[in-house]
Amino acid sequence: MPLSTSRKAQITLLLLTILLLGGFLATSLVSYYVSRDSIRDNIVNTELPLTSDNIYSEIQKDLIRPTQIASMMSRDTFLRDWALNGEQDIGPMTRYLREIQDHYGTFTSFFISERTRTYYQAKGVLKQVKEDEPRDAWYFRVRGMAEPYEISVDPDMANSDRLTFFINFKVFDYQEQFIGVAGVGLTVDAVVKLVDDYQRRYDRTIYFTDRNGRLVLTSAGGGPLGLQRGQVLGDLPALQPLLAVLPKPDSGRYEYVEGGHRHFLNVRYIPELDWFLFVDKIEDGALSDIRQGLYLNLLICALVSLLVIVLVYLATRRYQKRIAALATTDVLTGLPNRRGFDLLATQALHESVRERSPLSALLIDLDHFKLLNDTHGHLAGDQVLRGFARSLQGNLRQSDIICRWGGEEFILLLKDTGTTTARLLAEKIRQQTEEELFPFNGVDLQVTTSIGVTELQGDESLERLIARADRALYRAKQSGRNRVCEDTGGLQQ
Ligand code: GH3
Ligand code: MG
Ligand code: MG
Repeated sequence: MPLSTSRKAQITLLLLTILLLGGFLATSLVSYYVSRDSIRDNIVNTELPLTSDNIYSEIQKDLIRPTQIASMMSRDTFLRDWALNGEQDIGPMTRYLREIQDHYGTFTSFFISERTRTYYQAKGVLKQVKEDEPRDAWYFRVRGMAEPYEISVDPDMANSDRLTFFINFKVFDYQEQFIGVAGVGLTVDAVVKLVDDYQRRYDRTIYFTDRNGRLVLTSAGGGPLGLQRGQVLGDLPALQPLLAVLPKPDSGRYEYVEGGHRHFLNVRYIPELDWFLFVDKIEDGALSDIRQGLYLNLLICALVSLLVIVLVYLATRRYQKRIAALATTDVLTGLPNRRGFDLLATQALHESVRERSPLSALLIDLDHFKLLNDTHGHLAGDQVLRGFARSLQGNLRQSDIICRWGGEEFILLLKDTGTTTARLLAEKIRQQTEEELFPFNGVDLQVTTSIGVTELQGDESLERLIARADRALYRAKQSGRNRVCEDTGGLQQ
């Protein structure tokens, strides 16, 4: 019985553990995944598009006015007349270019004459452009293109090679004959600074490519994963699949995995430049906080679960012990009850048979106890039972087994004891009881005992031993009470 109870407790404990850990784990994971999804959603739908919008509008703001200025220059009658009149005096031209530069706040302004291939700028003649000079390739590109103008980013050799947006407009004479290229340049410092700022503050990579995926503009620190201006995104295996999507002028949101890191990417087409703006963010950084939160959560859950389980285990064990003790103990006297006695007595019987040592039993019954109850009340009876049990215990050796057999009956099993000694002990108990006073509510109560004594015969059973002790007790009652009688064997059935 106790075994199955403790097994049940073990199963309950196991279920509790599973329930606690499962519950904690489920809530922690659910909250982690909900937070992660909302962070992802925020990155993809808000953060990256917003960065992209801001950078785009900054570029637009920077480009619109200079484009208008360059357009105006290409239609300017002074510039065209001066060129058509043989570029006589460079003074007016340089003054004109300086005026444009100073008045409109551009970084540079220029005119290249097709007839003389002279490059004029605000400070005078810069150089002659040549077809075989790579740095002049832009001029011949513009000359050959169908569109009236282009915007390009190149180092400006007139200004210590600073990276510059050039707005190059073709200039035509009054018969629509190509006579040169005019335009302005403006530093991309502002855009680069913005890109740097965004990268630093919001932990994202920002760069621009042309239609072929070639990096045209990056932050000061370079492009994605160390790529530099001029290199193509196709050099990065993780980005190769993206390039198949990019050439058509379109914007979009993409995800890719590189080196075990998930990237979110916002791509926007910038028609003014025929470029793509990339805003790239690695998920790890954004999730590291909530991931740490998850680990902390799980740790707390594990500790709380462990604590709860240990407490429940200790409480259950204490409770089980109490239940077990209650089940084998008599509440009134604190002596073992019949169940407690059975366990100890069976063991003592086996020992006696095995070791061939004598074993005696004393069955004790209080005389006229009903009368005592009727006269002094049930509580008085309880008091006498408690006092008698205490005295009885005082007469026992460590090895003796005692039990409240029921009502006002007690049984004693005396190990390694024959009838002679048992009888002497019984007599001692009888005598002591007769003399003892049990005070209750100012009255000294007295009681006597009748005791049946017997010794284990051969391999008889416990029931038979007790039955013979009972017979002896019966005789003691019959012969006047307050006495000890012995049964020497031969139970008639
Ligand atoms: P006898 O000498 O023949 O044994 O007479 P008796 O009155 O002792 O025997 P009987 O069996 O007629 O009555 C036993 C009484 O013991 C009746 C019962 O109420 C009382 N008794 C049994 N258990 C308790 C108990 O726990 N507390 C009290 N106060 N009385 C008890
Ligand atoms: Mg009785
Ligand atoms: Mg009695």
